Amino acid sequence: MISIKKLKIPLTYDSKVLEDIVSERLQIDSSRIKQISIAKCSVNVLDKQDVHFNVTVVVSVSGDEKEVLRPLKKDNNISKEEVVLRYTVSQVKKLKERPVVVGCGPAGMFAALILAEAGARPILLERGLDVDSRKQKVLRFWHTGILDTQTNVQFGEGGAGTFSDGKLKTGKKDSRKIKVLRELVEAGAPSEIMYLAKPHIGTDLLHQTVKGIREKIIDLGGEVNFNATVTEVLHKDGQVKGVHFVENGQDSELSTDNVVLAIGHSARDTFERLLTSGVYMEQKPFAVGVRIEHPQEMINKIQYGDFADHPALGAADYRMVVHLENGRGVYTFCMCPGGTVVAATSEENALITNGMSEFARDGRNANTALLVTIEKKDFGSEHPLAGVAFQRRIESAAYSAGGGGYKAPVQRLEDFLQKRKSIAFGDVLPTYLPGTEFAEVDDYLPYYITDSLRQGIAEMGEWMPGFAYPDALLTGAETRSSSPVRITRGDNFEAIGIKGLYPCGEGAGYSGGIISAAVDGVICAERILRS
Ligand SMILES: Cc1cc2nc3c(=O)[nH]c(=O)nc-3n(C[C@H](O)[C@H](O)[C@H](O)COP(=O)(O)OP(=O)(O)OC[C@H]3O[C@@H](n4cnc5c(N)ncnc54)[C@H](O)[C@@H]3O)c2cc1C
Repeated sequence: MISIKKLKIPLTYDSKVLEDIVSERLQIDSSRIKQISIAKCSVNVLDKQDVHFNVTVVVSVSGDEKEVLRPLKKDNNISKEEVVLRYTVSQVKKLKERPVVVGCGPAGMFAALILAEAGARPILLERGLDVDSRKQKVLRFWHTGILDTQTNVQFGEGGAGTFSDGKLKTGKKDSRKIKVLRELVEAGAPSEIMYLAKPHIGTDLLHQTVKGIREKIIDLGGEVNFNATVTEVLHKDGQVKGVHFVENGQDSELSTDNVVLAIGHSARDTFERLLTSGVYMEQKPFAVGVRIEHPQEMINKIQYGDFADHPALGAADYRMVVHLENGRGVYTFCMCPGGTVVAATSEENALITNGMSEFARDGRNANTALLVTIEKKDFGSEHPLAGVAFQRRIESAAYSAGGGGYKAPVQRLEDFLQKRKSIAFGDVLPTYLPGTEFAEVDDYLPYYITDSLRQGIAEMGEWMPGFAYPDALLTGAETRSSSPVRITRGDNFEAIGIKGLYPCGEGAGYSGGIISAAVDGVICAERILRS
């Protein structure tokens, strides 16, 4: 097989066009091309007059491959295809007891899947409900403001990203990431996620995918229990002994010597209990800010220029980072093209925003979090959970600023920059449910954050003309961008001083995002299987 990188492909192409381009690059007749597979594809928007795809293909040719490659030796973009990365599950060493996985987010699901594939018959305990029941609870919350603190946007089957854009940021792919992507495809995600540079699956497809993975875990001998909240990890003499949990209101215990703790960044009650019971944890810096909404059409125009309406291009995204002189960073995060701003709280009387899109990304607005970095010194206390207290203060202030009932405080960007309350919407109408109220961002975020946001927006407006659009809307508060705490791991990924306890995923402070949490789950499972 031959790999050709950086192939420039027009936005409108078919297999014939691709074949012609490949045969020209390889200097062979197209009749010798047996198969072309796309291995990577991104949109090149550097020249707005010439937006095109940048593609890596893997080609199989008839006849002698070496003879095809010989005259192309000097072309750095053409080479013999590297070995296909394959993931193999480590064989189970006979575990004395079934391992327990706490939390059914990407980290917990993939830890359970790997354990199940190795024959270890894991037991997965998830505090929230299955994805279908969860969807009903979340929709009820968005439409009526009635919150279920156990099943919501943060908690329930699939974890925090189940109501999201489903961006699958991979970075450099290794065999574990490929394993995760393959499993997602097998469970119902579109196969294009294997090669797109910026794959996403959207909330609608994610729900199907999550169910597919659950079914596979069960088929392989695992067990998945919903409405089962772990209240304590039992340990003695530095060794895990089991878990205490409440399932459907009943207290229960399971004996085990291996627990994967994949509880996400919002399990504040569980953090508190773990800390009390002697699990070591420490503060971790994170970021807070607001969601910003622009018209998607405008973002398409900025990013794609004259190609903005081209049917081959999806809704455009963007990403920016600026470093301020005050030492803080301001950055966009978790962009949702054609998406909606969502109410994402798991606690009563707290206002937390986040974003989601459907696979089609066909909503009228683009939204992204606009965040300012927070340091441990901002927490005002040395307590390991001071970051949680810091988040809570902002979430409560935002709730009050919105006037209660989970209505979100909103402000036009121009009014934010001029430090005045908005009195009317402009071009951009909010997508947030259950409703909004005009209030100032300064009502719920400390001055050092709003000041940094103002500086950051000014700089971003220079990088991306149009970004500082006066009618853009700021909705807040965005506080759950990552975990405010780290459950510190020692050797072999185990919690310090507790053998058999594997803090895992975003809540443990070791990953962020669907793919990185899933990969962390894979690694923790491997550690158990090899320990
Ligand atoms: C609205 C939203 C949109 C997002 N969009 C994206 C995106 O597009 N792309 C991306 O890569 N990332 C996105 N993220 C982030 C991503 O979802 C997280 O990084 C990822 O889910 C972390 O995975 P995790 O398994 O570590 O934790 P989580 O997904 O948080 O899962 C933890 C699970 O543990 C359960 N749990 C907690 N405590 C207990 C307990 N005591 N007992 C039993 N169960 C418990 C919770 O109910 C939850 O289901 C988004 C997050 C949100 C909230």
